[in-house]
Amino acid sequence: MDYKKLGLKCGIEIHQQLDTQKKLFCNCYSRLSKENVKMVLKRRLRPVAGELGDIDAAAAFEALKNKEFHYNVYPMETCTVEMDSEPPHPVNQEALEIALQIALMLNCDIPDELHVMRKTVIDGSNTSGFQRTVIVGLNGFLETSSGKVGITNVCLEEDSAQIIMNCSIKPGDKVVEIGSGSGALTIALAKTVAPNGKVVSYDKRKDFIEIAQYNIEKAGLEKHVEFKLRDAKNGIDEKNIDSIIMDISQPWELVDIAWGSLKIGGYFCSYSPLISQVEKTVKKLRDHPFVEVYVLETLQREMIVLEKGVRPSFNMLGHTGYLTFARKALAKV
Ligand SMILES: [Zn+2]
Repeated sequence: MDYKKLGLKCGIEIHQQLDTQKKLFCNCYSRLSKENVKMVLKRRLRPVAGELGDIDAAAAFEALKNKEFHYNVYPMETCTVEMDSEPPHPVNQEALEIALQIALMLNCDIPDELHVMRKTVIDGSNTSGFQRTVIVGLNGFLETSSGKVGITNVCLEEDSAQIIMNCSIKPGDKVVEIGSGSGALTIALAKTVAPNGKVVSYDKRKDFIEIAQYNIEKAGLEKHVEFKLRDAKNGIDEKNIDSIIMDISQPWELVDIAWGSLKIGGYFCSYSPLISQVEKTVKKLRDHPFVEVYVLETLQREMIVLEKGVRPSFNMLGHTGYLTFARKALAKV
């Protein structure tokens, strides 16, 4: 195919989560909470006409699915801004400075005034039904070995759903889960890959699969999930998958299989409660061209603010597990 003759023009949109301590429009922590859920907020999101009087076509389509969203509320990571009971605060300074620095590094023009715009997004990825965006740079460029690449704009934008984000799981994805458990994660994955994606969940225990299957059916997601009663160590059928997620005791034994089944750029994620498991898994990951190999742990210590001073709480959520992430690359870097 002669792309030049066709006049084909391609663009790329790159998203990068900023490593800020607080959220973009409130003072809550942006980290993932591992504490018990304090409250669940149930919500239906509806499309409304924008400033120009039109309803966004994508939002109108999303509304047809008539979904009810459940948001977990945690004491340090949620406030009345997310609940829409309080207007958004001014933009987080740390995030703004990073975004401006990136815009300058990409040779962008910085607008004289930065305005927060919002667009209707009702796929559940944010609680308010709006996604807020600030354009911080325009008309930039990047020098590369293949020439100058133009940068149309740089935006500072809200994002959410961190676990799902670390693996960039999205509608239409093919995801393999090793270890069905009760089906809780299976449900979250199935909701994300719907309407046209699929989750294949392996477990070697029949009783686990039966419980998970029951929960999936209760959630009305059976169309998007296929269970396989099998020890995945003997191999999996799927090829060219977007992500593989494991919650098993010996994830390192499945790294070779994961490598073989992931597409280039596909994501590996494993949940383990012990450091020894993480060490073995990462060692095995490094035998392959996996990149962006990193491990996350969340610790949480509440501060008690008293009249006479401030001290840490006696109780601390000290440990839950480690999340190991990696991405399949073409060659070792
Ligand atoms: Zn908040």
